[in-house]
Amino acid sequence: MAQEIRTPQFLCLKCRYELAGFEIGQVCPECGSKIERLVDQSKLSNSKVVAVMIFGVLSLLSVVLTVVLFPFQFIIQWQLFGITCGLVAAIYAMNLRYGVRTGKIPFRSLRWIRLVSIFGWVGFVLSILLACTLLIGMLLLIMMSKSI
Ligand SMILES: [Zn+2]
Repeated sequence: MAQEIRTPQFLCLKCRYELAGFEIGQVCPECGSKIERLVDQSKLSNSKVVAVMIFGVLSLLSVVLTVVLFPFQFIIQWQLFGITCGLVAAIYAMNLRYGVRTGKIPFRSLRWIRLVSIFGWVGFVLSILLACTLLIGMLLLIMMSKSI
């Protein structure tokens, strides 16, 4: 497997057809698009995807920690943190997808990018829902304490 990654791999950026032996200016035999760049996929790095993944994980983590600790603590800051991290991950996932099409991010990162995107959106939406629930709960508590 490690050996496989090290061998140069030139793929069509549109259809992923193996372009070994082709030159810039020729036409991809699979999809017919002009070859504008020959990008060696084995030399592209995954590190940007890993960095964005951290934001997605942090967003989900803030949701999980809030649910676990909820009866003991009111922590709206964590939701704001989760909303921000989730949104950063989701938006950056789109940017990474664009990077794959332009030959800056390797094709092998695509499933991780999909995961980053899911983590980001789920963290974002759940954080918003939790924030609303916590705020409504707090308002109810205040109203109840006033009516007594
Ligand atoms: Zn092609």
